[in-house]
Amino acid sequence: MKTKIQEQFKKLYGEGASLFASPGRVNLIGEHTDYNLGFVLPGAIDKAIYVAIKPNDGKTCRIHSLDYNESIEMDIHGEKPAQQWACYIYGVIQEMEKRGGLVHPFDMVFGGDVPLGAGLSSSAALESAVGFAINSIFNLNFDRAQLAKIGQMTEHNYVGVRCGIMDQFASLFGDTGKVIRLDCRSLDYKLEPFDPKGCRVVLFDTQVKHTLASSEYNVRRAQCEAGVAVILKHVGGIESLRDVTMDMLDTYKDEMDPTVYRRCSYVINENNRLLEACAALEKGDYVTFGQKMNGSHEGLSKWYEVSCEELDFLAEIGHRTDGVLGARMMGGGFGGCTINLVKAEAYDNYVAEISDKFQHKFGKAPRIIEVNISQGAHRIE
Ligand code: ADP
Ligand code: MG
Repeated sequence: MKTKIQEQFKKLYGEGASLFASPGRVNLIGEHTDYNLGFVLPGAIDKAIYVAIKPNDGKTCRIHSLDYNESIEMDIHGEKPAQQWACYIYGVIQEMEKRGGLVHPFDMVFGGDVPLGAGLSSSAALESAVGFAINSIFNLNFDRAQLAKIGQMTEHNYVGVRCGIMDQFASLFGDTGKVIRLDCRSLDYKLEPFDPKGCRVVLFDTQVKHTLASSEYNVRRAQCEAGVAVILKHVGGIESLRDVTMDMLDTYKDEMDPTVYRRCSYVINENNRLLEACAALEKGDYVTFGQKMNGSHEGLSKWYEVSCEELDFLAEIGHRTDGVLGARMMGGGFGGCTINLVKAEAYDNYVAEISDKFQHKFGKAPRIIEVNISQGAHRIE
């Protein structure tokens, strides 16, 4: 990929490009906790967007997307481009300029191997790679946290996706053998060790996206807020479910719709599970870590009710198959992937067995994506 991009740059725009990369991400545990101001635990993966870039002497940027095989010319202060992929680049530039960064015309070739729309956040990889690259060649001095914000705001203001900051954060701050415990309230983060020797991480992509996803997402947010409102009547200073304990929730359970209670208890338990999972990582205890992943799936499926038949099938047969340490749905739900932590010696059998059973039941094999926890945004020498 790197070589392809460099060669394409030479062919189109000549010598002397600098090369940068920023990866996609997985989230090990902590789902639907971000908007409740809790914790998430993402890690950067060994699939990335690569950018070759060089300032030019012209008045416009010349940009080539290798994967779409399309070239555009773009004026930094001009209209938003027509191509979706170019909006991410345009948006990053605008967000940098809003913050006082002066961007000059450049030539760029980019491409990558983060699967699109599979829940690995190819869009955050793109924003982060482009932001990191522009920041470096024009010495804009944005730090990684600012670049994450620039990426997030690009999605909000130029793509129309009101995402949180986890994906950009993971792409920029990730590191080999480390996952990021991100506090979505303070944006403080801590790198936790993630180096399960003798294990592999694999995703099964159902390749389905049930239409419930966005409407139910809003319903869940409202249910969490309804729970907070009940507690707030009795306890001062409560801003989100982050401030609510299971004891508090149980004390005022009778004042709550039973569904609201179930939703809130999932969120509180998921935050606790994540912290326990981190404690296990610090001890190198991947058995306990895997059990927390399993608990997360159970909560998402039975208490938060954002799973679906395909995801439940993958997780449940995963839990019963030899070599598994943990298996759970990843992402918002109603489709997408499961993430599985599997012993290396059982890996081939595990993947084959689950894939076969899924194919048998749903008529189509899941897409198999193995990932390694890897380095965040960086320059390639
Ligand atoms: P994801 O969950 O993977 O982030 P999104 O729909 O948010 O899915 O982002 C996918 C979009 O990001 C694509 O439609 C495209 O515009 C852009 N993108 C991602 N990867 C690439 C790539 N390799 N080349 C060009 N554009 C890309
Ligand atoms: Mg995205």
